[in-house]
Amino acid sequence: MAPATATGPFRIVHAVCSHDCPDSCAVLVTVNGEGRAIKVEGDPSHPVTQGFLCGKVAKYLDRVYAPQRILHPLRRRAGVTKGPLAKGRELESLEQISWDEALDAIAARLQHVSDTYGPESILPYSYAGTIGVLGYGSMDRRFFHRLGASQLDRTICAEAGGQAFKLVYGKKLGTRNEDFPRAKLIIAWGANIHGTNIHLWPFVEQARRNGARFIVIDPYRTRTAGLADWHIAIRPGTDGALALGLMHVILRDGLEDREYIREMTHGFEQLAARVHDYTPECVAKWTGLSAAEIEQLAREYATTKPAVLRMNYGVQRSENGGTAVRAIAMLPALTGAWRHAGGGAQLSMSGAFKFNMPAIERPDLMFSSPLGREARVVNMSRLGHALTKLGDAAEDGPRVHAIFVYNSNAAAVAPNQNAVRRGFERNDLFTVVHEQFLTDTTDYADYILPATTFLEHTDIQGAYGHYFVQRSDQAIEPQGEARSNVWLFSQLAQRMGFAESCFRDSPEEMIRQALNPDETGHSRNPGMEHITPESLAEQGHIPLAFYSRDEAKPFLPFSVHESLPTPSGKIEFYSEVLAAAGADPLPAFVPPVESRLGPGARRFPLEFLPRKADNYMNTTFANLDGHRRMEAKTNHRLEIHPRDAAPRGIGDGDAIRIWNDRGSLQLTALISERVPAGVVAGRLDWNKLSPGGRNVNALTSERLTDIGEAATFYSTLVEVARV
Ligand code: SF4
Repeated sequence: MAPATATGPFRIVHAVCSHDCPDSCAVLVTVNGEGRAIKVEGDPSHPVTQGFLCGKVAKYLDRVYAPQRILHPLRRRAGVTKGPLAKGRELESLEQISWDEALDAIAARLQHVSDTYGPESILPYSYAGTIGVLGYGSMDRRFFHRLGASQLDRTICAEAGGQAFKLVYGKKLGTRNEDFPRAKLIIAWGANIHGTNIHLWPFVEQARRNGARFIVIDPYRTRTAGLADWHIAIRPGTDGALALGLMHVILRDGLEDREYIREMTHGFEQLAARVHDYTPECVAKWTGLSAAEIEQLAREYATTKPAVLRMNYGVQRSENGGTAVRAIAMLPALTGAWRHAGGGAQLSMSGAFKFNMPAIERPDLMFSSPLGREARVVNMSRLGHALTKLGDAAEDGPRVHAIFVYNSNAAAVAPNQNAVRRGFERNDLFTVVHEQFLTDTTDYADYILPATTFLEHTDIQGAYGHYFVQRSDQAIEPQGEARSNVWLFSQLAQRMGFAESCFRDSPEEMIRQALNPDETGHSRNPGMEHITPESLAEQGHIPLAFYSRDEAKPFLPFSVHESLPTPSGKIEFYSEVLAAAGADPLPAFVPPVESRLGPGARRFPLEFLPRKADNYMNTTFANLDGHRRMEAKTNHRLEIHPRDAAPRGIGDGDAIRIWNDRGSLQLTALISERVPAGVVAGRLDWNKLSPGGRNVNALTSERLTDIGEAATFYSTLVEVARV
């Protein structure tokens, strides 16, 4: 099917949802004769999208044409203090300017900051507000590399789990959604499939119709957990202990696949010795489960074939989250589940897509910057520290004097929000934000630049939940003066006097570079050799080479011996990388400092889950009335178990305060058994839409995970009291 065909007065354009979601849906956009998009729908020809979109994006035109869209460059009026602007009255504090004025002023200020404090005092801050190859990171990366700006370590979401999975397997691959219907046991571990990965759900349902059992392991009774045959409400941060306990039972009872282990893995004997002490009784004390439940789960998992694990990134957002993912990822290697069609595991399949990123990002440009070397790296999960403390020590390098935020609502999503806000409030910090709406972060901006949505620019995209490369064609003209990442940073580069021709590349040229190694000399994944800019433009979505639509040919990653990109060439129970770094090469359970097992629990006895809304994407969509109505039940609520509410004299609907040493929130109690005793849950929202102008990140910390130095949102202790 051609991606853009004229049918009478309407056109159907093939686009791709670029929100941070594993499904990367193929979207058909109907555009009328006036150039207005009048319908978005899932592409029925895409085997994973299957013709439907989630509730978030089914109403996408409400977002594209929202009256609150930023349509022009804006500048903070002289004398207006940085900080939350009155909701709905933000524009009174801002003035509209032309793009030329904005770009000239921003380029001049960045040059001044670079000349005065050094280029590393400029910090880009972005994440996955869009995950298209060009929109996520392309011309922006070239620009900041050439400038010599600090590099951003993008750790806020997937780094701990991603690195952990690669420590075991060397690459991020997983069981295809399309093979799930063959499974007889599906375990969703920290994965709210129904809320955040809805296109896996039809395959889960198909498997259940075929007789599969469906188990959910999650401290919170999500929509998905509510639909499970068995919901295991584990305590936050103890997933690694459970995985080690399952291994103990599997090995004690001889349920492992010795042949697979011999052929495919490295370090089995050491692992067996390590898990010896993780008895069900011992693990039960940490996890809050009974020893009998652990025994049952281990036996079900090891004896049901095919069995598949769907992990998501919730598991890794605790202090020991990297090790937890690593231990869970070892389970299918122990039982040989990878050999069975429909078995195995899925965390992320992004490792299958090898776009030519060196050509797109041009890290070599750092050596042409005033630094003449690689710039320092700043961890995005410690933004509060970066804006308030970095530079205090001589070895830090310069303080951050300019921050350029795009694809992220940093003031709302970064942990330890009070520190982040103190940083953004600094009068000596120059802040630019490229955005679609006036968010919590634009409240601190000196300049706000209007950004396009995925309907308004062209891109290509892989996925972390399926194996299709897709092209997203521009369906409509940008709203107002909104502009894409590629355009914005190309213009800025030229104003900064960067002469390299790559700063004048068009999106089409960059798509060709991403797909074509011949022009740049970089090698890429052989699985993508058949995908050319032309074939992608013609077909819209193309599977990677190993993908077969033939049901008799399931995709079986890690099922037969191949040399894996690990030091041993095998699946590593014993990590040679960690051993070389002087770290524990085997998984072990270390209780999180911020948990009921840690020292802080005396003062703050409740474990806090700052959970994500099913109908928002982090904070994206939270400002739209239709989406807010879908989340109305938990707006401004703290879910608390009756056993925790009663001794505190808290009743349903009471005003309560929730606090720790980092901050406090005023919320309303929702007495709920969706959380287990000892755990409370509140939902991520915009600050300006939250009581007191603070969201859940007022409570979270900047402590980092054990692997990957990622954020630890789910290792947070609090106390709660009736107001
Ligand atoms: S958010 Fe996810 S499920 Fe929804 S349309 Fe986008 S890719 Fe599909």
